[in-house]
Amino acid sequence: MAYRPDFAPSLSRLGTESAFEVLARAEALRAQGRDVINLGIGQPDFPTPPHIVAAGVRALQGGAHGYTPAAGLPALRAAVAADLDARHGLRGDAAVHPDRVVIVPGGKPTMFFAMLMLGRPGVEILYPDPGFPIYASVIRYSGATPVPVPLTPEAGLAPTADAVLTRITPATRMVILNAPGNPTGGVMPRAEVDRLVEGLEAHPHVAILSDEIYSRMLYDGREHVSLLQYPQIRDRLILLDGWSKTYAMTGWRLGFGVWPPGMVEHAIRLCINDHSCVNAAAQHAGIAALTGPQDAVAAMMAAFDARRRRTVAALNDLPGVTCIAPAGAFYAFPDITGTGMTARTAQDRFLNEAGVATVAGTSFGAHGEGHVRLSFAASTDQIDAAIARIRAIL
Ligand code: PLP
Repeated sequence: MAYRPDFAPSLSRLGTESAFEVLARAEALRAQGRDVINLGIGQPDFPTPPHIVAAGVRALQGGAHGYTPAAGLPALRAAVAADLDARHGLRGDAAVHPDRVVIVPGGKPTMFFAMLMLGRPGVEILYPDPGFPIYASVIRYSGATPVPVPLTPEAGLAPTADAVLTRITPATRMVILNAPGNPTGGVMPRAEVDRLVEGLEAHPHVAILSDEIYSRMLYDGREHVSLLQYPQIRDRLILLDGWSKTYAMTGWRLGFGVWPPGMVEHAIRLCINDHSCVNAAAQHAGIAALTGPQDAVAAMMAAFDARRRRTVAALNDLPGVTCIAPAGAFYAFPDITGTGMTARTAQDRFLNEAGVATVAGTSFGAHGEGHVRLSFAASTDQIDAAIARIRAIL
């Protein structure tokens, strides 16, 4: 008799990230000879800046072939702490201690570890909807109940303090925040974050996971409001950030968490059990990224901003489509309800009929209905061609 695995029930609760499925479908169409423009996947279309690649190569050639400490190279943890302090104006007691920084392979492990620590049946975890699909997936996987916090156009497709605070119950153990947000690019203004933090003081049983992976990607002179700037929640704040988006390093698999004192040892133990340590050469590249010149980041952001304006203007010019300008990240999240299509129909028709890969808003939660996500981390030629093709089928 053939072997049939007797799977753990939790496995069936694990969701996925549709952007990867769309990528696979786009590749399959390309393999059939179709010309597909991919605005589906969320990664910069730029190469990693050369001085960062050179540092990785040097590390490999110089013999960085062994394990590193599980939490990461001390020099990298120190560079992360110094970079956060400089970027967020953290000094004295508010400064980030390198011992709280845990280097992991990408942005995702920090959210997975947080869920493994706090999620379990009977517990509620709040997450933005529409939001990064892995949040709901890993919450469910842990056995906890996912509680969506709807994002509304009135609030710039970002959460409001009220929307979060009114959903907290005695069973809530964690609130996930993500600014700038995927897929909406929304950010909470500082006054709103102030109100949220003030409200959270009445709920000391609730941890905060702040996913700030797009923290360097803001437009129109907006400042990034990091939750690290609020000392009153430091003892329960898990900060997630990394190199993937800022330095065009998605394939290097390098990210970090800043953990509160009571949790950091558990995070390191999870690293030891899961992956031992992050690829040593990638860590050396990560040091070069943080301590070297930042002009490549500025150049990338200038390009993204130009594309953002172009994409939003072109989308608003399509019949039945309206799009608010995202405050950050590199996604447009237009409202397509005026076309009469559901999000999923639009995704399928854009891909199959127009050869344009986008992601249905519902892949980011029920509140994403009526939207699709287009990544503008693509060349202006590709963006123009993609929108012309969508116009043709509308
Ligand atoms: N958090 C958000 C909001 C993201 O959009 C992504 C990637 O798309 C990640 C985390 C994961 O980043 P990484 O590829 O570094 O794991």
